[in-house]
Amino acid sequence: GLPELPVRPISERRVSRRIEVGPVAVGGGAPVSVQSMTTTRTSDIGATLQQIAELTASGCQIVRVACPTQDDADALATIARKSQIPVIADIHFQPKYVFAAIDAGCAAVRVNPGNIKQFDDKVKEIAKAASAAGTPIRIGVNAGSLDARLLKKYGKATPEALVESALWEASLFEEHGFRDIKISVKHNDPVVMVNAYRQLAAACDYPLHLGVTEAGPAFQGTIKSAVAFGALLSEGIGDTIRVSLSAPPAEEVKVGIQILESLNLRQRRLEIVSCPSCGRAQVDVYKLADEVTAGLDGMEVPLRVAVMGCVVNGPGEAREADLGVASGNGKGQIFVKGEVIKTVPESKIVETLIEEAMKIAAQMEGDGIPS
Ligand code: SF4
Repeated sequence: GLPELPVRPISERRVSRRIEVGPVAVGGGAPVSVQSMTTTRTSDIGATLQQIAELTASGCQIVRVACPTQDDADALATIARKSQIPVIADIHFQPKYVFAAIDAGCAAVRVNPGNIKQFDDKVKEIAKAASAAGTPIRIGVNAGSLDARLLKKYGKATPEALVESALWEASLFEEHGFRDIKISVKHNDPVVMVNAYRQLAAACDYPLHLGVTEAGPAFQGTIKSAVAFGALLSEGIGDTIRVSLSAPPAEEVKVGIQILESLNLRQRRLEIVSCPSCGRAQVDVYKLADEVTAGLDGMEVPLRVAVMGCVVNGPGEAREADLGVASGNGKGQIFVKGEVIKTVPESKIVETLIEEAMKIAAQMEGDGIPS
């Protein structure tokens, strides 16, 4: 017979410390959270809050805002108070903004060891202020701003260099008894990034914020992030994620949520199981799948809808799903929970699927299936 093959359940997570980013727990077995970052000027409070509201609506759980100027620092208190989700202030270069962010009630502060030379003598005060306010710190190492000392030692931003930078920075806080920390070690190359996080995961028990930095435009960035996060999360590594795209931040959130759903780290919502089509297809599968996807947009219940081009795999997949269609001969057989409930002409497939999906969704909601 076949040898016994090892199977590691994805639900088996690395044991990390837990920190609280406002009401969102990160690490210590908490669900993996999805975050993004605003693209507005933080000092433009109205525009920033508007974008945070859009991000919240798209499912973002934690939002980061840049804080490069005093005007931005001055805006933090209002933004932190009015945001529906916890706000993290992203600080480079200026220690005074770290204190401002803590005073402003931000849920956490991100600092970058490569850009905070002048922070070193302030670590004690930062640790004291953050500790008093219960504000966690993210140590965010980035390949593009690696500490010059480590760049010289390693020649480039290797996984070892990124990890050494992060652990050294963490040790500066640990010296003052501060361990309310999460760490990221981002690189634009998913292979370097994955190795850096693996090493970091083995070297400490801090919760980890995953990110492929400067991942690129939407298509490339989505693939890079999905590959890297998929590798790490399937090894149990990662407590919160940010997909970085050169695209509107709500897109990052959509991708992040989809990655977690694909790994079963989050309950799947609407899932369209559509075939790639082939020479046997008797219907325009792409068009059908697009129309069904658009018609069911925003559906929150975990519905699996199969859209199949012919009767080879069609009936099988359609039966496995909550709802489905197998097309053939200008007609569509509509399946609900494995039973053919009707056969409709091709022109009626989309509206029939949407109609039936709505009925099933209403029933699921009635049965208390969480959205
Ligand atoms: Fe081809 Fe039919 Fe499979 Fe679609 S379901 S890929 S049309 S064989």
